[in-house]
Amino acid sequence: GAPPGGLYSPGDPLVLLQVDTLESSVLNSSSAWLVEFYASWCGHCVHFAPTWRALAADIQEWSPAVNLGVLDCADIANQKMCGKFGITGFPTLKFFKAFSKSPEDGMKIFHPGDSIQNLRQSIITNLEMHKETWPPACPPLEPASVEEIHGFFQTNNVTYLALIFETSDSFLGREVTLDMLQYENVAVRRVLSSEEELVKKYGVTAFPSSFLLIKNGTFSRIPVQMEARSFYTHFLRRLPGVTRGPYAPTRAPDMQIKTTPTPRRAADRSKVYMADLESALHYALRVEVARFSVLTGERVRALKDFVAVLAKYFPGRPFVRNFLRSVDRWLRNVRESSIPYSALELVLTNRKEGQAPAVLSNNVTWVGCQGSEPHFRGYPCSLWTLFHLLTVQATRHRRLGTGPLEVLGAMRGYVRSFFGCRECAQHFEGMAAESMDKVRRVDEAALWLWSRHNRVNARLAGTETEDPQFPKLQWPPPELCPPCHGVVNRRHVWDEVAVLRFLKAHFSPANIFLDYTE
Ligand code: FAD
Repeated sequence: GAPPGGLYSPGDPLVLLQVDTLESSVLNSSSAWLVEFYASWCGHCVHFAPTWRALAADIQEWSPAVNLGVLDCADIANQKMCGKFGITGFPTLKFFKAFSKSPEDGMKIFHPGDSIQNLRQSIITNLEMHKETWPPACPPLEPASVEEIHGFFQTNNVTYLALIFETSDSFLGREVTLDMLQYENVAVRRVLSSEEELVKKYGVTAFPSSFLLIKNGTFSRIPVQMEARSFYTHFLRRLPGVTRGPYAPTRAPDMQIKTTPTPRRAADRSKVYMADLESALHYALRVEVARFSVLTGERVRALKDFVAVLAKYFPGRPFVRNFLRSVDRWLRNVRESSIPYSALELVLTNRKEGQAPAVLSNNVTWVGCQGSEPHFRGYPCSLWTLFHLLTVQATRHRRLGTGPLEVLGAMRGYVRSFFGCRECAQHFEGMAAESMDKVRRVDEAALWLWSRHNRVNARLAGTETEDPQFPKLQWPPPELCPPCHGVVNRRHVWDEVAVLRFLKAHFSPANIFLDYTE
């Protein structure tokens, strides 16, 4: 099974990196590395994991020219390291050239769609960007010239040379070259269709097609059913005298998987738990915001708005409310256009003499948001809960408010600036742009968030991010709120008056329970 919280397991053909192995693996390495920085709670990371695993299997024999790794930034032990590597959203793919010196040398790789082929080609393109620090295990990938082929067997101690003739936009030759790097006694070179002399010499008429040259001077077309990567690779690996060299396929370095099984906490679905809410505050302010070493522009605005609504409406324990008010005061007094996180951190951890222990626990405890496995629920669940609560609290304290969009605007800004699940943030921004500004009253704000959350629930129902023990239902279900549901013309309808009444009761201070708080 997967290590607790992680989306990958030791059986996967990739390296499970940890805080203590990331730098020693990817920096000053004779291999290039492509690392997926993910957060196990991020739905899109869950969705992307099968692709990444399949890519790892597909190119596992390209090691040690290039290795694939993963690091779970949701694991508390890894958080600082993810900050050091500049990771602000998930999943983030970073390519480290061989002999990279520092975390900043990692280059972000855009992953359009979920195509393994695109990712594979992007790896090749990045490998080709190596200049003087070419990974020693990586064979040449550039097209062969007439001169190189003519003198090939004099300068290379191999029995076979496979020539793959192809057009310049084809990746086939380079893929087969990398597929064969762990094998000895055979070399592969691509030849471009524009290389007229070689095309003529071997009588090449189809691109792609391939020819096998043998040291004794003979050559012949490689007989394959299809001119495709797997057929070429299969043929070449079975040539007499071709053997696997000393390179081993990617395996994780000795890794201690820390197994600290989390106890199941008793929770009641009709209640709201303070432990979830305080964990959301901790995670938002001290993990998500902390990913930005300096906050500027829109992020400063978003943080100020977020903390302002927390200070006004969060129905927390007295010391938490005091804490939020003091952070809010501090932020209001910041006149500079940028805030170093280190300065904010001092305010977030400042404890006055005689005050209760640390204000926010330095950890998360999920109760109502606990999933049946560590990668389910947790933080995103608590963030929804927090914002529903705030929209409802704003309806109870109207005189404090600045308008119907106060809480929703703060949520929109927070999600856009800080929520690590970037695709979630884009979806949410899409919904906000579409209709948020039509909200005219604070009651409508609570209902707007309720109905958009149900849209998200509908979209995610049955996908791999759904915790099987907590199916994504339209909420509140009939057992929680019978009067919310009605039927008109045999179709389900919500009674929004009843829904609003239910939201106000469900997200009221009287329904928040202190179980499992310290
Ligand atoms: P959640 O959906 O997180 O709900 C938490 C709790 O809120 C529920 O247990 C229930 O008590 C209550 N609740 C449920 N529905 C409502 C409602 N309509 N109104 C009020 N209360 C309700 N994941 C993706 O995979 N793709 C996405 O695009 C995506 N976008 C997201 C956008 C945002 C802004 C957020 C905060 C999260 C997003 N997520 C996305 C995560 C996803 O919505 C869930 O939060 C996550 O999968 C955990 O689900 P859950 O079962 O704990 O319930």
